[in-house]
Amino acid sequence: MGLYSPIRYLKGVGEKRAAEFAAKGIGTVRDLLYFFPRSYEDRSKIKQISECIEGETVCICAAVYNLPTDRYVRRNMLISSMQVFDESGMISLIWYNNKYVKNNFREGEKYIFFGKISRSKQGRLQIVAPVYEKAGSERFMGKIIPIYPLSKGLSQKIVQSAMELALKEAGRLEEYIPDEIRNRYKIAEINFAMQNIHFPSDFESYNIARERFVFEELLILQLALNERKDKSRSNTGIVFDDVKCIRSFTDTLTFELTGAQKRTINEICRDCRSGRQMNRLVQGDVGSGKTAVAAAAIYMAVKNGYQTAMMAPTEILARQHYESLSKMFEKSEISVVLLIGSMSAKEKRAVLGSISSGTADVVIGTHALIQDSVEFDRLGFVVADEQHRFGVEQRAKLLAKGSDPHMLIMSATPIPRTLALILYGDLDISVIDELPPGRKPVKTYSVGGSMRKRVYNFVADNIRGGMQAYVVCPLVAETENSDLKNAEELAVKLSEAYPDIRTGLMHGKMKAKDKDEVMESFVSGSIQLLVATTVIEVGVNVPNSNIMVIENAERFGLSQLHQLRGRVGRGGDQAHCILITDSDNEITKKRMDTMCISNDGFYISEQDLKLRGPGDFFGTRQHGLPEMKIANLFEDRNILRLSQEAAKLIISNGLGRYPQLRQRCSELLSNEIIMN
Ligand code: ADP
Ligand code: MG
Repeated sequence: MGLYSPIRYLKGVGEKRAAEFAAKGIGTVRDLLYFFPRSYEDRSKIKQISECIEGETVCICAAVYNLPTDRYVRRNMLISSMQVFDESGMISLIWYNNKYVKNNFREGEKYIFFGKISRSKQGRLQIVAPVYEKAGSERFMGKIIPIYPLSKGLSQKIVQSAMELALKEAGRLEEYIPDEIRNRYKIAEINFAMQNIHFPSDFESYNIARERFVFEELLILQLALNERKDKSRSNTGIVFDDVKCIRSFTDTLTFELTGAQKRTINEICRDCRSGRQMNRLVQGDVGSGKTAVAAAAIYMAVKNGYQTAMMAPTEILARQHYESLSKMFEKSEISVVLLIGSMSAKEKRAVLGSISSGTADVVIGTHALIQDSVEFDRLGFVVADEQHRFGVEQRAKLLAKGSDPHMLIMSATPIPRTLALILYGDLDISVIDELPPGRKPVKTYSVGGSMRKRVYNFVADNIRGGMQAYVVCPLVAETENSDLKNAEELAVKLSEAYPDIRTGLMHGKMKAKDKDEVMESFVSGSIQLLVATTVIEVGVNVPNSNIMVIENAERFGLSQLHQLRGRVGRGGDQAHCILITDSDNEITKKRMDTMCISNDGFYISEQDLKLRGPGDFFGTRQHGLPEMKIANLFEDRNILRLSQEAAKLIISNGLGRYPQLRQRCSELLSNEIIMN
């Protein structure tokens, strides 16, 4: 058998079990080898029975004194107990509802038992449901044993046995990581690593083995992303001859651009002159001024003779962009049009005409932009606002309306720097890491539910003074016995408690049109207090709103909380964000503290990753990161950095020089699990 043989030919596997393995994505011997343990049990040391202490998990080598005796304590509760002994003492072993266990032992024979020492009601030490093997022929005792991430179906024993065989059958594995890289970064050799990740001879060897696979996983991921970046990007790009013209736009702005905005604009100009298609992500905290950057780029594209399209995730946001860009381009003889689904057929026809004839220079819209009926005369530049709302496919559709137009993607979700390279590996990245001067940070407080009444009185007073406020709840409909404050119920309660205040409600289950209507009323001021779910997270500007209350704040990711509170304080007034949580969990406290002390989206996302771990951080998979088999993107960030360095080195030498690595990359890419 070889590395690529199907595992059903492994002894003890067969058709039925092979199907269970297949459900875990394991088909070949190699798949199996790359199925890594979740944890380990140290069964390497045998303890004397007399030395066993309650609470410890131990291995003992003991002979059977009497075969298991059965007794029913209730109708459905069978207890079997067996006494075993070694030279130091005796201990009871207990099984529940296991009629057949007695058939597995012979009186006087020695076995190795592994399990946790507990104390019976009578005060005697015992082990409940130990794992066991006959002494002298043991396979999974006397060493460190892998525990695999299994649910139902396969048992640990089956997988452990199959793994042991697979390691033998696979023979000597070929090394994929070039020696020069392994030596430079002190990465263990594959055969040593594979043996020790599954059956480590000691924990130090395990660490060395694990490091290797983390490095390997991250290296291949990054090489693969780079391959895709090269493929997805056309080599021919429109050349903008005049990039300096951008100055005649930036000079008309009423403010001085921040250093970060200028740097980003320079990066865009360089791309647009390079002769290669631009594919750039601009990441900037809420309020960092991404719109001005996009406007400058759009201006340049138009002055170079091209049409541009800007796609926003909601109608209201599209309309807001339309208004602000129209204003910014007022004096520049640039024609800006809006295209959204709710326009009348007649309006649409007129706009579509101006797009195809080329009289419209800038088209701002929603998904309506990617419909077949939309034809451009000379589309040369595309902007997608709020990146994570659009899929790759939608972006591609928009791009296809021109011939290799440049693409700018704007995202307000800060990602820790080290991760951005992985998450957006197929894009170039600009970071706007500086806020315009004079911005007052949102004052953030975290309070318990007992303060709720005082919080809402404070909100009400502010509203009576002429301001507006948001209340954000995590869920719409109350699930049974859940104590979450749901938006609907809270909206009713608040309008009863404060009848003089005009309260509105908005949630994700409403029709897009109704949502827009509510948002419109909030923008115009006819709604003063808006109770909503996270649907408000995407950037609509309501300068008059200066308070946000967030209920069950512990339910949100910190980056999401940060994004949410970015909705307030957009006017000149001091803004407040009040996080209400009844949780007294330590981690929750730390997370809320992070929100109260920091206004830096990058710092916050890093803390969140640290406190919750990547599983939760990327819980919604909105970033499309493939599932990691072994690497932990936060804890392994040092290895991540090394692998980033190594990937650069390999790329500069040319991946073509490393056929095995390239093979692994194309496998990963063809699996389609990577980035969407
Ligand atoms: P976001 O990055 O969240 O999209 P916006 O582009 O909406 O931020 O900008 C937020 C506000 O800051 C806008 O009112 C904009 O006019 C203003 N602004 C942008 N850049 C600057 C700057 N350099 N100096 C002062 N105000 C700025
Ligand atoms: Mg914005």
